[in-house]
Amino acid sequence: MDIKKKIETLRTALREHNYQYYVLDQPTISDYEFDMQLKQLQELEGQHPEFHDPTSPTLRVGGMVTKNFETVVHDFRMYSLDNSYSKEDLEDWEKRIQRVLGDVEVEFTCELKYDGASISLTYEDGQLVKAVTRGDGFQGDNVTTNIKTIKSVPLKLKGDYPSKFDIRGEIVLPFDGFAKMNAERVANGEEPYMNPRNTASGSLKLQDSSLVAQRPLDCLLYGIVGRNTGIETQWQMLDKAREWGFKVPTVAKLCKSTDQVMEFVTYWDEHRHDLPYETDGVVIKVNGLQQQEELGHTSKSPRWAMAYKFKAEQVSTLLNEITYQVGRTGAITPVANLEPVLLAGTTVKRASLHNADQIAKFDIREGDTVFVEKGGEIIPKIIGVDFSKRPKDSTPTAYIENCPECHTPLVRTEGDAKHYCTNYYGCPVQITGRIQHYISRKAMDIEGMGSETVTLLFQEGLITNYADLYTLTKEQVMPLERMAEKSAENLVNGVQASTVIPFERVLFALGIRFVGETVAKKLAKAYKNIDALMAATEEELIAVDEIGERIAQSVVEFFQNDTNQEIIARLKTYGVQFELAAEQLENQTEKLKGQTFVVSGVFEKISRTELKKLIEDNGGKVGSSVSSKTTYLVAGDKMGPSKRTKAESLGVQIISEDDFLEILN
Ligand code: AMP
Ligand code: ZN
Repeated sequence: MDIKKKIETLRTALREHNYQYYVLDQPTISDYEFDMQLKQLQELEGQHPEFHDPTSPTLRVGGMVTKNFETVVHDFRMYSLDNSYSKEDLEDWEKRIQRVLGDVEVEFTCELKYDGASISLTYEDGQLVKAVTRGDGFQGDNVTTNIKTIKSVPLKLKGDYPSKFDIRGEIVLPFDGFAKMNAERVANGEEPYMNPRNTASGSLKLQDSSLVAQRPLDCLLYGIVGRNTGIETQWQMLDKAREWGFKVPTVAKLCKSTDQVMEFVTYWDEHRHDLPYETDGVVIKVNGLQQQEELGHTSKSPRWAMAYKFKAEQVSTLLNEITYQVGRTGAITPVANLEPVLLAGTTVKRASLHNADQIAKFDIREGDTVFVEKGGEIIPKIIGVDFSKRPKDSTPTAYIENCPECHTPLVRTEGDAKHYCTNYYGCPVQITGRIQHYISRKAMDIEGMGSETVTLLFQEGLITNYADLYTLTKEQVMPLERMAEKSAENLVNGVQASTVIPFERVLFALGIRFVGETVAKKLAKAYKNIDALMAATEEELIAVDEIGERIAQSVVEFFQNDTNQEIIARLKTYGVQFELAAEQLENQTEKLKGQTFVVSGVFEKISRTELKKLIEDNGGKVGSSVSSKTTYLVAGDKMGPSKRTKAESLGVQIISEDDFLEILN
């Protein structure tokens, strides 16, 4: 192969690997293989400077030194954002928008507000030509050589990009990379960095680009500006940018109302610490670019966008010890035991650390001073380490490998961040946990019995599963600690009284993984009795509305287990409810047996919920999406066009509300 071609092939391959690793987070070759190919390319380029290419992946390693960053005027100004702090603020904003636009439909996109350093990238003919900081909004610093070392910034684009445009985004330093940098600095006796944001923005101004290359910076994009880009909405913009090879977070939502916006805000206020990088709010934008243009800007910020700031109280305190809890399903939860500290009006002593990844992400260690936050959520969270207070002799947290209760080696399955103890029948905490769940208020609500009693009964060898509860006698229970004749009697009576608890709650009480109250109700309604449910296949279960693969799998697994089958058989003999009660079955028929309905759109005579209930009450199943298993698609007003197309292509009959009522009668 001739040299030029060889160089080109290597460049193309390395670009693609870069994209897969840094943008998609799905590498297809090992780091070693990547390094080898990069080295080969470096050598060839060194021998053949005549084939220089400003978009070569070798430029990622940096090396260029910039003494003074040149000032560049932005072609399009970089604006600030107005802030809002409440639903009322957002509603006021929406009213202002409607006043300007008139009585038209306005959609909003919600994105997260990434907390880093803003950047504007200019692309010409698919090549990165310029990267400029925000500066004062009118002009910023040319930091192109440094930006080129950030691996998720594409130097060359793919697809049908416009010939010239600017794209705006945020340079961020993910938590794990930040923690690693600081751990090294502390180990070398250097001052640790304050926070990811300042470190990210400081990195852009480093003179030696090879130092920037060593920092695990990331670039998240959110906005394209330019003439004749052919883009019509903000949502489409995000899609396009993704297509061209940019890293655009998939956490985003297209909303039709302030209520929907608030749902997004509330959800992310609570879950943002699960993200790999820092965010400090949500940015809400009018979706239509035509509408954006009509709305225009104030002197400072666009009228079509609004930031919603998360409000979170934060304190720092000492992390004394990390302990591990085993749940009734065997899931391990690491817990931070803190030096008690006052936060948002309550004293906090413990915080959940979620899982091993969470500990690794922030590099949390015993003896660290940690930042604890309580935002919209109830349970406080650890959101970072104060590295300046890390003790010299600190060592990284080694996650436990064995169950703290029964010493069984822990396992972790793909797609689940938690570690599990698999010793289902032998792990004492799992055994008692399941019984404690069974007797709990929302399950069998057994009076006269608490969690400690369960533990005692188990320790005395009187119970090993919840079926054993029903054979307990007053005489057996009385000798237990703190038990008197009266309380023993109450306990035994409480157990017997639980036989009136309805089927759906019994189903919940069994403690099948992923079967919470709502799912239990669904299943009870769909199958009416335990025998039918136990006979259901995974496929049949998935066909039930709101039952997904994960739940279906777990249900089948649970009932296939011999011991569980035995326990259920025993519970039956004790009189526990394993079918829907007569009054629940009243007005119920089998008219629609074997038929699956998908309901979509708005209806005139009955509500959607009523319609679904009618189907289920008459033995039919409600499916969530149209498939070859669907018998009828009941179409109301404003039904989604994709459902119709799908039904038509599969030959599924589409019927109206009236047709349905006719079938029923
Ligand atoms: P502020 O500096 O508080 O006025 O907020 C404006 C800055 O938010 C912009 O300059 C961006 O750098 C940053 N930002 C972060 N995420 C987004 C986003 N999704 N959309 C728009 N701006 C964002
Ligand atoms: Zn265990």
